[in-house]
Amino acid sequence: MNLVFLGPPGSGKGTQAVRLAEKLGVAHLSTGDVLRDAVKKGTELGKRAEKHMSAGELVPDDLIIGIIEEKVNSGELSHGFILDGFPRTIPQAESLDKMFEEHSMSLDLVILFDVSDDEIFRRLEGRAKIEGRADDNREVIANRLEVYRKQTQPIEDHYRKVAKLVEIKGEGTPETVFESLMAVTA
Ligand code: AMP
Repeated sequence: MNLVFLGPPGSGKGTQAVRLAEKLGVAHLSTGDVLRDAVKKGTELGKRAEKHMSAGELVPDDLIIGIIEEKVNSGELSHGFILDGFPRTIPQAESLDKMFEEHSMSLDLVILFDVSDDEIFRRLEGRAKIEGRADDNREVIANRLEVYRKQTQPIEDHYRKVAKLVEIKGEGTPETVFESLMAVTA
């Protein structure tokens, strides 16, 4: 099964992606995880991405599209996948459409996680205390939400046109959200 998880930061899509990928036996690709790992290792990609990430801004499209191209070309995604945190802009979504066309791949479903802003702040501030993520302080959280609204939300409409988009309630316990996910992917 080929899935894209879409939703604001803190909507729980990362947690659910890990769980569902394991259940379905498909690859889980989080561009945020790939970038954080590159920053930790101090690679060229990490150096170029770091300043954007710590400000809550998006990393330039060409860097991100390069990561995805590598994964698609390597065949790592050929037995099913969940893309978590990608695409996040219209150019990224259009590049993905093109890559899929070239590799005769397609998306089964785009799953949109719906969570209120209040709940997102509560969750991200909690995560900041536990994980100490540099991009989880109040000011940066507000910027990440703004970036989501401006740059990522327009791809909801893109996917309403070119794929099957379903919306699930991202509030509630991780168990109830997982049940909703199982229902829509069954
Ligand atoms: P995430 O863990 O998905 O919230 O990603 C953390 C940060 O990594 C984001 O705030 C962006 O700075 C960067 N990032 C992750 N995925 C993307 C993407 N698809 N496009 C641009 N920047 C990204």
